[in-house]
Amino acid sequence: MNIAVIGTGYVGLVAGTCFAESGNDVTCVDIDAAKIALLNQGRVPIYEPGLEEMVRRNAAEQRLGFTTDLTSAVQKSAVIFIAVGTPQSATGHANLEFVRDTAKAIAKAINAFKVIVTKSTVPVGTADQIKQWISEETAQPFAVVSNPEFLKEGAAVEDFMKPDRVVLGGDDAEALETVKELYEPFVRTGNPILVMDSRSAEMSKYAANSMLATKISFINEVSCLCEEMGADVTEVRRAMSLDRRIGPHFIFPGVGYGGSCFPKDIRAMIGMGGTRLEMLLLQAVEQVNERQKAILVEKVKRHFGADLTGLTFAVWGLAFKPRTDDMRDAPSITVIAALLNAGARVQAFDPEAMDEAKKIFGDRIGYAARNYDALAGAAALLILTEWNEFRRPDFRRIKELLKAPIIFDGRNIYEPSDLQKLGFKYYSIGRNHG
Ligand code: NAD
Repeated sequence: MNIAVIGTGYVGLVAGTCFAESGNDVTCVDIDAAKIALLNQGRVPIYEPGLEEMVRRNAAEQRLGFTTDLTSAVQKSAVIFIAVGTPQSATGHANLEFVRDTAKAIAKAINAFKVIVTKSTVPVGTADQIKQWISEETAQPFAVVSNPEFLKEGAAVEDFMKPDRVVLGGDDAEALETVKELYEPFVRTGNPILVMDSRSAEMSKYAANSMLATKISFINEVSCLCEEMGADVTEVRRAMSLDRRIGPHFIFPGVGYGGSCFPKDIRAMIGMGGTRLEMLLLQAVEQVNERQKAILVEKVKRHFGADLTGLTFAVWGLAFKPRTDDMRDAPSITVIAALLNAGARVQAFDPEAMDEAKKIFGDRIGYAARNYDALAGAAALLILTEWNEFRRPDFRRIKELLKAPIIFDGRNIYEPSDLQKLGFKYYSIGRNHG
């Protein structure tokens, strides 16, 4: 089948590549000419495990192409996916400007019946809105299907190829069947394709992300209380996770959630409630998260004093989570800004997110080529992202390089008793040693 994917970011590029991998002819479209030029050279502008190799293979076999020409991509495709960004607007609502521009551009290009699929995360009612935007521009026939994406950055290809479920929403049976067929190769192990009305499909994405963010804020709040009460959140989490009604996932305390989805989707869901329904729980989830992002620097200030002038801190991990270069709304941004505000200097390292970090911090911080280089002369090490390569470092080397053996671990990746034995002053989250 000929497919167009409009918006070639984390979602669009992965979706387009995976649809090509299952034998479709895919054209990925973006307004960012530099991104398309890079992709046409076989280079992938984002870090996502396994993606670059798959892009190159499918491009070489001519099932995957990249263009800025939306019109020709739409005209030759039967199914058109909208995968453009839906960032947060000034009011906290989802900004649908890019979706509207895309819908209008598709409408101008339509030359025959098309199935238009919304993959972007969009507020409830957007499918109806898209129908209206397109109908205002064209009399050509089309159907709209809502197909929220649930992939995780860092495991996006795997998630797309083996989804827990696929959600399709709409009222055009034939269009739903067409999109269902596209997904059949990915659900051969029996995971379901759920078909529902478009409003429920749109809501399911926000509800799922809100639930995940709620779990994170819940355990973070528990971790704060553990500290107050002298309990250890690691033990508490283990005890909780063995209850099958709770399970082990997404109850790891840390420095708060971030990324391109949770913060904006929680705010969009609060915005959907608007004045009709105050989203009390989600407001609290957000407040807890904001508080959590400040916790590590509070520990730093408790140790060193409120004025950090003259002190340098090493930071390991900048991306909002491991296995991605994405720094959108990363907690590291808040933590580093707080250190700088208190007069400190920062030397940072991240295996993949350094280029993104440079766009945010410029020359306000130093960038180390290797993780150990960040430590030279630093007063302490802060760990903000739980990259695997930080889990078993050479502690003797860390000790030699730091001015004093002090670690503030925002991800609880080390065992407090081990670090104590090695002579470190070790601070982490929700464990009763400080
Ligand atoms: P992104 O910012 O990485 O990519 C969006 C792309 O759309 C950009 O390359 C941009 O240039 C392009 N674009 C914007 N307007 C355009 C237009 N008019 N025509 C063509 N291209 C245009 O965003 P993303 O992370 O891929 O997210 C896309 C959507 O998917 C969002 O709604 C997001 O909430 C949702 N989503 C994201 C993830 C994730 O993990 N990143 C997961 C699930 C859902």
